[in-house]
Order: sequence, then structure tokens, then C-alpha cells
Amino acid sequence: MADKFDYDLFVVGAGSGGVRAARMAASAGVRVGIAENRDLGGTCVNVGCVPKKLFVYASKFSETFHIGNSFGWSSEAATFDWPTLRDNKNTEIARLNAIYAHLLDSSGADLFSERAVLSDANTIAVGGRNYTARYILLAVGGWPHIPEFPGSQYALSSNEMFSLERLPATAVVVGGGYIALEFAGILNGLGVSTHLIYRGQRLLKSFDSEMIDKVEQGMRAKGVKIHLNTTVERIERVNESHEVFLSDKGRLSADLVLYATGRQANTDNLGLDNTSVKTRRNGSIIVDKNFKTHEPSIFALGDVIDRVQLTPVAIQEAMVLVDYLFGRAEQTVAYHNIPTAVFSQPEFASVGMTEEQAKVSSKGVSVFVSDFRPMFQSLSGGDDRITMKLVVELASDLVLGCHMVGEHAAEIIQGMAIAMSAGATKKQFDSTIGIHPSAAEEFVTMRTSAR
Ligand code: NDP
Repeated sequence: MADKFDYDLFVVGAGSGGVRAARMAASAGVRVGIAENRDLGGTCVNVGCVPKKLFVYASKFSETFHIGNSFGWSSEAATFDWPTLRDNKNTEIARLNAIYAHLLDSSGADLFSERAVLSDANTIAVGGRNYTARYILLAVGGWPHIPEFPGSQYALSSNEMFSLERLPATAVVVGGGYIALEFAGILNGLGVSTHLIYRGQRLLKSFDSEMIDKVEQGMRAKGVKIHLNTTVERIERVNESHEVFLSDKGRLSADLVLYATGRQANTDNLGLDNTSVKTRRNGSIIVDKNFKTHEPSIFALGDVIDRVQLTPVAIQEAMVLVDYLFGRAEQTVAYHNIPTAVFSQPEFASVGMTEEQAKVSSKGVSVFVSDFRPMFQSLSGGDDRITMKLVVELASDLVLGCHMVGEHAAEIIQGMAIAMSAGATKKQFDSTIGIHPSAAEEFVTMRTSAR
């Protein structure tokens, strides 16, 4: 690399994608700088995947205690202490932040714990001086977006949910995507009376509609009050609480209003105007197949390019980019068949095509559905169910889509994703021996097509 630059690669943003790119490049002997003005690990570690999953675990205990009675367990009435959960979560996140710092340090990358701004196509201003870099990587992620309307200043975003002073007694959650459903489940499980307000007809609208109906039914059965085709017109503050006025003329009192209405790229005041980098109307950065922006020395990946806003995708993009810039450029990101899970309650996970998509893209499909009560519920008489679905192309016998609603859906679908990326056929699913008794074995024992 030419020595006229201070760095070969300067990464802006130390989230999942940025840290992976910096570590990989630095470990390969490349001179790397990385800047982050918040906690290391980005959204996923600090205000996303990790603390969210801890909260999901916490919220499930209410049901587990109840089911335990039918297995012979009894104890004094369980109580929940929010500060204990929040503070233990904070300790765990601090531990992860330290691990990230150690990983960066041991890779040899220089960390700047400050905000970085682009001065030109090869220059970053950070920590009161300018550094030059042959390549700059923008991995600055996204930020929750709350639309403006009367009273929108009272709405919280997911960012604030992780550090609440106290748990509310009543909550309104707005949105029908990942974050809205996950937090509705968390709040409900922790004993908060929870309303979910969604403007559309069907939650999680890009997923398989039959499966999403099951998610909705399951959430309602657990106590979340779901209002579809409904919007919030205004919020008024009343004493310590809020009045939420709905489009159907309904009105809800809520101690907390959470808006989970999408995230936008974190590109404000980044100095993009000093370069040729182009953005879309929503602020996300436009890149080509090699993550190159309109400025040949500047690259971008992860949530800021608004392709697939998932941590494992950003990590994969980072590895492919470092290989492209400094390696043998042999890898590509496989954007098809990306498995994903929504940690709603019930949990939902999916890989591949929905039934609706498969019917459009293939001449003929066979659909296999299994819906049953999990064994864990059999003694308690609980009404949780598990639904599994396989979408198979008739001509090729290829499994095109694999979907599941219910306990451990994410764990099970991860394995199904490997089978699908290996091109598994339904016949191969059928000839695989099940693990008994398990829920997952249903995926290899579905013999009769539903449609
Ligand atoms: P999503 O894009 O998933 O959902 C946003 C929701 O808000 C949609 O239901 C949308 O409605 C609704 N909405 C948007 N604008 C408005 C508005 N002005 N008024 C009312 N409703 C509105 O965003 P999230 O914030 O939930 O999550 C962001 C991304 O983060 C996800 O897409 C996902 O990629 C990632 N994520 C992944 C998780 C995981 O892997 N488990 C967990 C959390 C986040 P409509 O459907 O009508 O457009």
C-alpha cells in the first residue's frame, strides 16, 4: 500500500459490520483506523439484538412459572424487579463492549473514540486532526425514526427502552415490524398491559401470511391487545401518563408509548457533502455490488446501505469487502435464502420464499403445514401452538421456503437454512430421520400436502 496515506483503511462506525471489517483487515497486516463516538458494538450489542434477547428471556418467565405448576413445582408468588434486569443487562453489555475493545486492540487497529467526519474523498477529521486513508468504509448504521405528529415528542424509540427508570403499568406500541412485535411481547410478558397499534391489515407484511396470522393469534392469546388498520392521531400528556388518540376514535391511556416505525440511515452531518457519495431520499448510501459508493475510495455496508438490516448480513458484507479490497476477491454475499427470526411471542422464523412468492415464481408448488400443541404444554393445558410450513416446487422437488411459528423457531430454522442452501429436496427432508420427541422432527415427517 502507498505510504502517502496515514491508513490503508479508515472505518467510520464500530458496530457489527465496522468492527468485523477493521479486525479482519488489521489482522491481515493492513493499517486500519476506526472511529466510534458511542459504545463499541453498535446497535446490535447496545440497543438491539443482544439486550432485546435478554429482555425476551426475562419476559418468558411469567409463563414458565405458571407451566411449572403442572409439572409439580410450586413456589411463592413470583415478583419481577425491573431495575435488577436492567442493571444486570447493563453489566453484560459493558462486558461485551470490553471484549470488542480488546478484539480491536489485539488486531492492531487504532481506535478513535470520537465522532469522525469526512473532509474529502480520502480524509477523515477525528479527534481534532485530519487523517488520510486510501479507502474509507462507512459503517455508521441506522437510527430509529419517529414520524412527526401532534405529541410525537412523548413517544420513545427502542433506544430508550433499554434504560427505562421504571417499568410502566400500561404501554402502547406502534408499528407492525420486528421491533414493535418483539417489544409488545416483552412488555406483555413482564406484566405490562400492552396495546399494539398497526396501520396495516397484516403484521410483518413481507412474511408468509398464513404464518403471520398464527403469530397474531398467538400474541392475542398471550394478552397483547392488537389494533389493526389503526393509526395514532395525537398523544397528549396527562399528569405522569399519556392519552393516545386513535384514528378509529378510540383512546388509550398509556404510561409509555413506543414508536417502532422503522430505522433510517445515520448519514446526517457525516460530511458526505464533501465527497461524491450519493444517498437515497431516506438518507441511505447508494453502493454497487462491491459496496463502492459514487466516490471510488469510499465504501459503505450494513444498515446504512439499507439492503438487509440484519447483523449477520453486515458481518458477511464486511468480510466480503475486506477480501475485495485486500484479498483475492473470491467471496460474494449470498443475499438469497437469508434466514431471519422475529423474537415475538410466539417466536417466528423463516428462510426462503413465502407461499405467495413461490406461487408467483414457480409453475406449481406443494405446501406442507403442520400445526400442533408442543409437548411442553401438554400437562398445563396451555394453548400455545407450533406451526411449521414447507413450500416445495413441484417440478424440481426443491424446498423453496421453510417457516415456523412457535418455541425455538429461530434455533430450528437455522438448521433448515443450511439444508436449503445445500439445495435440499423434499425427498431428502423425508428420508432424514427425526429426533424424537422434538418439535423439529415435524419438518421431516410432513407427508401429506395441505395444498
Ligand atoms: P420495520 O421496517 O421492520 O417495521 C416498521 C413498521 O413501522 C412497519 O410495520 C411499518 O408499517 C410501520 N411504520 C412505518 N412508518 C410508519 C408511520 N409513519 N406510522 C405508522 N407506522 C409506520 O422496522 P423496525 O423498526 O421494526 O426494525 C428495523 C429493522 O431492524 C428491521 O426491518 C430488521 O431488519 C431489523 N431488526 C431485526 C431484528 C431481528 O433480526 N430479530 C430485530 C429488530 C430489528 P408498514 O408495514 O405498513 O410499512
